[in-house]
Amino acid sequence: MLKPLLAAVVGTLALGVGAPKGSPPAPADLVFQHGAVYTVDAARSWAEAVAVTGGRIVFVGTGAAAAAWIGPATRVVDLSGKMLLPAFHDSHVHPVSGGIEALECDLHGLESAQAVLDAIRTCAAKHPDAKWIRGGGWDLPLFPNGNPSKALLDSVVPDRPALLEASDGHSAWANSKALAIAGITKATPDPPHGRIERDASGEPGGTLREEAVHLVSSHLPPRTAKEYADGLRKGLEVANAFGLTSLEEASASKDDLEAYAALDAAGALTARVSASITVDTDKGVADVPRLEELRARYRGKRFHADAAKIFADGVLETRTAAVLEPYIGFGTDRGKTNLEPADFRALATALDRDGFQIHVHAIGDRAVRDTLDALEAAQKANGVRDSRHHIAHLELIDPADIPRFRRLGVVANFQPFWANGDEYITKMTEPELGPARSRWIYPIASVEKAGGVTAFGSDWSVSSMNPLDGIEVAITHRESSKGPGPAWLPEERIDLPDAIAGYTIRGAYLDFTEKETGSIEVGKAADLIVLDRNLFEIPPSQIHETKVLWTLLDGKEVYRAQGF
Ligand SMILES: [Zn+2]
Repeated sequence: MLKPLLAAVVGTLALGVGAPKGSPPAPADLVFQHGAVYTVDAARSWAEAVAVTGGRIVFVGTGAAAAAWIGPATRVVDLSGKMLLPAFHDSHVHPVSGGIEALECDLHGLESAQAVLDAIRTCAAKHPDAKWIRGGGWDLPLFPNGNPSKALLDSVVPDRPALLEASDGHSAWANSKALAIAGITKATPDPPHGRIERDASGEPGGTLREEAVHLVSSHLPPRTAKEYADGLRKGLEVANAFGLTSLEEASASKDDLEAYAALDAAGALTARVSASITVDTDKGVADVPRLEELRARYRGKRFHADAAKIFADGVLETRTAAVLEPYIGFGTDRGKTNLEPADFRALATALDRDGFQIHVHAIGDRAVRDTLDALEAAQKANGVRDSRHHIAHLELIDPADIPRFRRLGVVANFQPFWANGDEYITKMTEPELGPARSRWIYPIASVEKAGGVTAFGSDWSVSSMNPLDGIEVAITHRESSKGPGPAWLPEERIDLPDAIAGYTIRGAYLDFTEKETGSIEVGKAADLIVLDRNLFEIPPSQIHETKVLWTLLDGKEVYRAQGF
């Protein structure tokens, strides 16, 4: 363990920076003592104590040296060996839509088709006046081919239209009433970037993929500003309880931006939020002026919208992701991209020239390559700048493209929780790709070995927002419910310090806030969390059981666990 040696070094350094030479420091507002403080500074040092004044970290070091910071009014927190970490960053999350979903018909984490149906029935009974039954979170593998039928949904919601999104956000399940309202029949063609699943006779079956979802969702009553605001508050509550105080909103609409800005103006935004405004890829370059206008309008103390989000493709499980070689067993099907390569290059170049940070959803290896090509074209046209463009998800990367992340300075924004070898991967994805290509699913370690910067996020409400779930899987490559055992694709695992850094300092780098957050160092904001145990002293398979006890943003409490 590096702990005792480095703690001493950090203590000395911290005192040097935090106090004028020769004079004792003024008492701090808050002092943590007797902690396992993992600072995530450049040396990955440990310390025992931290002092906070005016929302900033003023001291990091030994317990003995911290005593000088304690005055009569100082609040002293004895950690008794508990872990203190910089608060977490989520580099790809949907707090508003996830929060709204959580307040509606929430189907996340249900483990059987029957449980999903029961939940929908209960939900419908609870909202007798709702014109539509809506919500989401059902998992594709619970239904044959990820393809639940309208008849099944009719059996629990016969009287009203119902539309329930899948947990991945790329499919939705409609009942007969909803399909009728949308006018979807046997004669309706698939939209250009979507698919209406059909039964053997060609009748719409009830499941809709990608843009086909809009055929129904465009008939939903518009959400109110209050629903957005309530959803955001719910999303923040979930985030703060998991120790998150910095969020990269992954696809913001104007209504989302409005909700963030209002909460920020009220001084009630309990996280730093960088929003990626969703680009209309059908409009491409022509959409840039609208993005500029939104970026200029929505900017506050803890909130800005300096990033633009581009959806390059769909998802592998349903073959809507764009892949270089055809899906096995589906003829020449290579999925679809939302942008032709030339249009993508033009769009990326325009956004980059305008100073936007570009955030791309790319899942298949062809979408990843198209994205890297587009970002390379932007760099060639506009010159190299500190852009920190990033690609999220990266489920399949062709090995030839792995070194390009470092070369182009593109951050690889992975969702490590997905690299768990579950049924999405083993039953739906690997059979479509075959073993040779499946070697390159979520190649986190390979990107890092090639010198690329990675940062991590949850994609909530697609999956758990808890960074500790992601940290565990990044190390174990196993579903946490299955306990210890062999790892899926062990070559791509990373270690604990690396996994923590991906949710802290490298998330801060992605957000351009590494001088302000992401590590426990003198001068930085006191965005801090207390964990109930030291992650370095437990088996990796128990990391997900760790609880966040206290979350501070700028030194102020935004979450406290019962009993702490
Ligand atoms: Zn997302």
